[in-house]
Amino acid sequence: MLKEKESKKLIHKKKLICLDMDGTIYLGNTLFKGVKETFEYFKKHDISFVFLTNNSSHSLPFYVEKIKGMGIECTIDNFYSSIETTIKYLKDQQVKTLYVLGVKSFKEQLKKYFVLLDENSDEIPEVTLVSFDTELIYEELKAACLYIQKGSGFVATNMDHRCPIEDGFYIPDCGGICKCIEMCTDKKPLFLGKPEPEMIYQVMEKFKVSKEETMIVGDRYYTDIVAGLNAGIDTVAVLTGETKKEEFLIQERKPTYIIDSIADLVELFQK
Ligand SMILES: [Mg+2]
Repeated sequence: MLKEKESKKLIHKKKLICLDMDGTIYLGNTLFKGVKETFEYFKKHDISFVFLTNNSSHSLPFYVEKIKGMGIECTIDNFYSSIETTIKYLKDQQVKTLYVLGVKSFKEQLKKYFVLLDENSDEIPEVTLVSFDTELIYEELKAACLYIQKGSGFVATNMDHRCPIEDGFYIPDCGGICKCIEMCTDKKPLFLGKPEPEMIYQVMEKFKVSKEETMIVGDRYYTDIVAGLNAGIDTVAVLTGETKKEEFLIQERKPTYIIDSIADLVELFQK
């Protein structure tokens, strides 16, 4: 932990706050207390914010509607997902052909930039890309495994093994689907979403800010906080989600700050 004087100096340099959504600003459809005031503070002090999500099964307009509906002023520029991260990464790598396990809306977005091959192509795709595919069928899974064994690259949007749904149950997420492919091919994917730092690097570039000027706030250690640690930026853990304070404290690499809820962020800035 930083001494108070040092932390005061650093926190006032922040120009971009990266935020997780679920468990950080809301749970289900209920916004946490004090969230609106926190965003008003950002606006008043010219601090930009961006929500980072690993979920590739919804496009950004979906989130704009959801967050706006909860009463927070935002535009599409306040969101960045593993979809944008993946597209930019693959474009930077000059990849042209893909085989994709993903929902229709994700594939439509990819088609603007890449040639998407199907299950029956003679050509081996440069990259086989796996995402949170809630429309997955066995033939597609089989094709992905065959392409990877024949030399196609193996890239995945995010490493989450499972996605929580209602009543405490889970469904397979991207990382879970990748596990199945790994068992078959003996190859490991390159993951791009949180906790990999790529998404944070890309938003820092987009908002033209430095590491010192950037901070991430989230409720999960292994995705949000580790993403921040891997990117070399300050991290703020909130206790409104699924991780308890003790779980943050036992980590060798601890968050820079631990606060009860995002409502306490303003206090951190005002110290
Ligand atoms: Mg969360």
